[in-house]
Amino acid sequence: SKPIVAVVGRPNVGKSTLVNRLSVNRDAIVHESRGVTRDRSYHDCDWNGRDFVLIDTGGIESAKSKDVFAPRIREQALAACDEADAIIFVVDGTVGVTDEDEEVARVVRRSKKPVFLCVNKLDDPSKELNSWDYYSLGVGEPRGISAGHGFGTGDLLDDVVAAL
Ligand code: GDP
Ligand code: MG
Repeated sequence: SKPIVAVVGRPNVGKSTLVNRLSVNRDAIVHESRGVTRDRSYHDCDWNGRDFVLIDTGGIESAKSKDVFAPRIREQALAACDEADAIIFVVDGTVGVTDEDEEVARVVRRSKKPVFLCVNKLDDPSKELNSWDYYSLGVGEPRGISAGHGFGTGDLLDDVVAAL
C-alpha cells in the first residue's frame, strides 16, 4: 500500500492550503473564518513518480476556549501521526510559536517518525526565516514555505519522498 504522510498543526496555520498545493485532487477545504470542525481527509499525491497519501487533519475549530479545544488538537495530531510514515508539521510564520504549536510538537516528537517542520505564510521568499523560535519546538530544522504561493513546496516534496 502507499506510504502515508500526515499534515499536522494547530488550526489556521495553512494545512489545507498546503495539502491542496501538494495533492492531485485539490479538494481539501480551506476556511477563511473559524468555526467548522472536520475529521481528517485523505489525498493522493504523486511527486516524480512516487505515489503517497497525504492526510489533512481537522478543520478550523472555534479556538475561543483553549481548555476545550487543545485536547482535540492533540487528538487529531495523535491519530494522524499514528497512521503516518512521515509527518509534515505546519506552523504560522507570521505569528511565531504558540502553546498549541508546542502541544502538537510533543505529539510529533513522541511519534519518532521523520518530521518536516514547515514555517508557513512566508510569502516573500527574499525575507530570511528567523529560525530560532522554531528550533525550540524540538523537531529539527525549520523550513520556510508559502503554501499560498508555492514557495518551498517543491523542495519539501523532494525531501518527503526521499524519507519514504
Ligand atoms: P488550516 O486550518 O491549517 O487547514 O488552514 P487553512 O489552509 O484553512 O488556511 C487558513 C488561512 O490561512 C486561510 O485564510 C488561508 O488562505 C491562509 N493561508 C494559508 N497558507 C497561506 C500562505 O502561504 N500565505 C498566506 N498569506 N496565507 C495563507
Ligand atoms: Mg484545514
